[in-house]
Amino acid sequence: MCIVGALGGAWGQCALAVTGENMRNMAGDRTKQALRWLKFGTLEEREFRQAYAVANANRARLVMGFALANLLILIGVGIANGGSPFMIAFEGLVMVPILAATLYLSRTPERYEIYHFLLAVGALLIGLLINSVVTRATLNGMPYYFSATIAWIFIVWLILGLTMRAAAITAVAISVIYSWGLVNWDITPAETSFEVLMLALVNAIGGFCCYQLEYTVRRSFRESRKLSQLAEQDGLTGLYNRRSFDQHLDRLWRQSRREESQLTLLLMDIDHFKAYNDAYGHQAGDDALKRVAEIIRLSAQRPLDISARYGGEEFALLLFGPYGDNAHEMPERLRADVASLKIPHKASPTSPYLSVSIGAAIILPNAERSQAGALQMADEALYQAKEEGRNRVVFRESQHSTFQTGRFRVGRKAS
Ligand code: GH3
Ligand code: MG
Ligand code: MG
Repeated sequence: MCIVGALGGAWGQCALAVTGENMRNMAGDRTKQALRWLKFGTLEEREFRQAYAVANANRARLVMGFALANLLILIGVGIANGGSPFMIAFEGLVMVPILAATLYLSRTPERYEIYHFLLAVGALLIGLLINSVVTRATLNGMPYYFSATIAWIFIVWLILGLTMRAAAITAVAISVIYSWGLVNWDITPAETSFEVLMLALVNAIGGFCCYQLEYTVRRSFRESRKLSQLAEQDGLTGLYNRRSFDQHLDRLWRQSRREESQLTLLLMDIDHFKAYNDAYGHQAGDDALKRVAEIIRLSAQRPLDISARYGGEEFALLLFGPYGDNAHEMPERLRADVASLKIPHKASPTSPYLSVSIGAAIILPNAERSQAGALQMADEALYQAKEEGRNRVVFRESQHSTFQTGRFRVGRKAS
């Protein structure tokens, strides 16, 4: 924690007045705060908790399985010795189903929310049962049973894989209820104060270690998430790269087949971009690519829409689901938005400004259609747009495909 605090302080001192730098610093601070408070944003938090549940499931299963076996023995002994019917019923009808359900759910951690909840409730009930056994033993002159409470509190903090908050609620509840029992039963003040002190100590140590553990796991979770996001992105434009676009296309293709939903695939190519580079230099070319990419990114606004840099000055957009009356308008608007950037292109015979050609394929994926075929359709449409004079959109709909070689393929073969 000290290291994190010191880093936070140093970060604050180094903050620069440049706006971009300040924004990065603010994002960095938010990241640190999220880590410090062990809480990410909703989506990331959900992903983290699921991963955390999966990572700890084996250990939790071992502990809960062992606890369930002991509980069954305890129930058997209770029945054989004529124990309290209330306790036997509680153990058999409440605790056994909860522990069994926890064990069952630990195998399908995608339902981690219920699993985590049951795990915490199960841990609390086991703690209370241990409390009652320990208190009875203490009253019968066997105070050393108290070590079982201590051990269980450590297990709650460090072994079960509960998040810090859930572990804190569970361990503190067990400790407070135990302490309340000590005060209310006929136990000597010396013994009571020793045990309360021990509980406070064990919770402080357990809490500290649990915090450190979760902090470290969260940090490496975030780092590996960032790395995998970087691997999906194109370095220059920040859009998805071709590899991840192909993966998304594969996933959305299957989804749209299941849901019998429409897909619109756009392939877009900047016109005379080689001439642009020659006229203005490679750096200006990079800047233009970034500005065009931003327009494309803003065009893929719906949750399942995907935009990517497909190659050098080629982009791809996948629009999931029907676009209603806008199906034809949207690509045209995209072309017009790029034109309205008014990036001068003195070497272009097409337009005084940088322009793009777009091939759009509107497809209803079914058993007879393939992703390669869909790409080919859009590719052909793009080829036609180039042939017809550039700076335009050409559409292909499923049934009109002729499947000839298109522009992208020609370009890639040549390179
Ligand atoms: P067309 O209208 O037929 O598409 O002509 P074009 O010149 O755009 O097509 P061509 O395939 O001949 O040239 C593409 C150019 O894109 C060549 C290459 O220098 C440029 N390019 C590709 N990637 C980058 C990049 O990352 N940065 C810059 N600045 N230029 C790039
Ligand atoms: Mg090209
Ligand atoms: Mg081009």
